[in-house]
Amino acid sequence: MIHPNKTYAIGDVTVTKIEEMRLSVAPPSFLYPDYEAAELAPNLHWLTPSNMDVGSGNLIQSIHSWLVRTPHHTILIDTGSGNDKERPRNAVFHHLNTPYLQRLAAAGVQPQDVDYVLHTHLHVDHVGWNTRLIDGRWVPTFPNARHVYSKAEEDYYGTSDSHNEVNVPSFGVFEDSVAPIIASGQAERISSDGGDYLDYFTFRPTMGHSIGHMSIELRSEGKAALFTGDVMHHPLQVVRPDWNSVFCEWQDAARASRRWVLELGAEHDLLLFTPHFAETSAGYVTRHGERFGWRYE
Ligand SMILES: [Zn+2]
Repeated sequence: MIHPNKTYAIGDVTVTKIEEMRLSVAPPSFLYPDYEAAELAPNLHWLTPSNMDVGSGNLIQSIHSWLVRTPHHTILIDTGSGNDKERPRNAVFHHLNTPYLQRLAAAGVQPQDVDYVLHTHLHVDHVGWNTRLIDGRWVPTFPNARHVYSKAEEDYYGTSDSHNEVNVPSFGVFEDSVAPIIASGQAERISSDGGDYLDYFTFRPTMGHSIGHMSIELRSEGKAALFTGDVMHHPLQVVRPDWNSVFCEWQDAARASRRWVLELGAEHDLLLFTPHFAETSAGYVTRHGERFGWRYE
């Protein structure tokens, strides 16, 4: 099912998904090591066909950026996986050739128009379009953008001996997708405490999936939304927030951050912009006694 990209208005700011790719490669037992098959039956009616492939049983996911336009700035939240990257241990991201920049252009944005890139974290599928391969060199894709991310992420992923086993398939990401924007003077680090940024944003620390992971709150004219980052990879985790993904690096902190986002979202009726849910990738957390539910918007 194709979901045409909606544009959401949060006060005087607009948000539009820029798709990189859709995936249905992961069975739930792979994505979630704690997966319990008994959880599937009561949820199948809303998971299929858009969030789970009926034939293979694999989870359907998306990789995309969120394009945010304020009255003053053009901003991307995360940059997908990128084209032409060498990811021999990670077939999903190896030597991609997607029309991501054409889709950005179709939304009215050329690379030089992007003023800021706000990163939830520096994993393989969130920094890829920071750079593109030109004449054998990785050069910044968005020449006028400041790339903003948690300093803890750079300190960790920029040190090769600090990679833990979760990141082995992604060796080389920092070197080809982050180091070039540091070299060009475009990187801006924020502290692990997060904090306000520009007029509209607040970086909210949600450590666990990665060492300096941030969710990014957007507020405008009394309306609020949250770019969650990878606190969740699929709406199954709204139902089972105790399930970490196989890509989460700090297990207890990842669970705590996920629960914090779900509580916050439900309590304040925040529109959540996720990085990997299918369909529109945006929606609301609902509360049902002790459990949470999910409603796409
Ligand atoms: Zn991700």
